[in-house]
Amino acid sequence: MSAQDILVVAETNQDAPADITFELLGGARELAGATGGQVVAVLLGSDGVKHAAALSAADRILVIDDPQLAAFSPDAYVAVLEHVISAEGPRAVLVGCTTIGYDVAPTLAAKLNAPVVNGCKAVAVEGDALKVTCGLCGGKILADVAVAGSPAILMTLPGSFRPSEAAGQAQVETKASPVPLQPGAVTFEQMIMPEAGDVDIMQQDVLVAIGRGIQQEGNIEMAQELAETLGGELAASRPIVDQGWLPTTRQVGKSGMIVKPKLYLALGISGAPEHQEGMSGSDVIIAVNTDPSAPIFDVAHYGVEMDLLDLVEPLVEAINAKKG
Ligand SMILES: Cc1cc2nc3c(=O)[nH]c(=O)nc-3n(C[C@H](O)[C@H](O)[C@H](O)COP(=O)(O)OP(=O)(O)OC[C@H]3O[C@@H](n4cnc5c(N)ncnc54)[C@H](O)[C@@H]3O)c2cc1C
Repeated sequence: MSAQDILVVAETNQDAPADITFELLGGARELAGATGGQVVAVLLGSDGVKHAAALSAADRILVIDDPQLAAFSPDAYVAVLEHVISAEGPRAVLVGCTTIGYDVAPTLAAKLNAPVVNGCKAVAVEGDALKVTCGLCGGKILADVAVAGSPAILMTLPGSFRPSEAAGQAQVETKASPVPLQPGAVTFEQMIMPEAGDVDIMQQDVLVAIGRGIQQEGNIEMAQELAETLGGELAASRPIVDQGWLPTTRQVGKSGMIVKPKLYLALGISGAPEHQEGMSGSDVIIAVNTDPSAPIFDVAHYGVEMDLLDLVEPLVEAINAKKG
């Protein structure tokens, strides 16, 4: 390990590496290109070795295997990561802005007396410091900060980096926990999965997302028809869910799901930072909005300035006519 290496704290989700892990590997690869170091993924678990191959975008994969790490435990994770980071001495540690990341990163920074930056969206090397662009006020404002000292703990927002899944020749090292682990003050009890029967919008290639611009519950049917015509599913901004028009499993954003479909069609969504946080990583974003200054147009690849109620039904007809 060199002092220029970039360490990624890998996460798993339902028995596979979580999407954020691949994004962190992508960001780490960019940063390691600038520092001249290697990318090291560290994965904690009781059967982590079976996920190691999926992380081969790293140069080295360090699997810490211990029954006490079978489920996430803040105390155990912090204890192990503190030891690993001290031993490895990397330039930076990338942690996701996720439930796990928020639990471990600040405590780790305090224990290691290391600088920590939350909401990182981009990172570069500038002289002896890292220059980090991060979101403030829920992402409404961006700030560039210079981070001196190592290791810098960078809490990275989902959707900030292109995922890196390229299979390399990563070296896998499996070790027992370097520190004795006891059950912590907070212990995992159960995973509460989305309501049975509903679709998982994180797995869809096409999402038709509706916002307050849909105006009334009765108009959702036409958006549903458009979604079906495109072979996709309905998603929504938070106000639609708050009003009980769609279940929480359909909410995209900071307090909802992070989605990355091939096509994200945003109908009557303003594009608040909290919404963008959940969809800006989509391959193609098309926004329909009557307001030309709506922030959704800043992230959209294609924009249509018009009333969605005038668009949706003719669009369904046109697509069906094309299909024959
Ligand atoms: C801590 C926190 C967490 C949050 N989490 C989330 C989250 O996870 N997801 C989320 O979405 N929000 C979240 N929010 C709320 C977020 O800040 C916004 O309030 C919300 O995203 C706005 O939803 P909207 O775009 O549907 O509504 P609005 O902001 O009201 O926008 C409606 C848009 O529709 C357009 N419009 C109106 N009529 C038409 C029409 N006929 N045709 C076309 N366009 C039309 C308008 O021009 C406008 O741009 C969160 C907020 C906080 C504080």
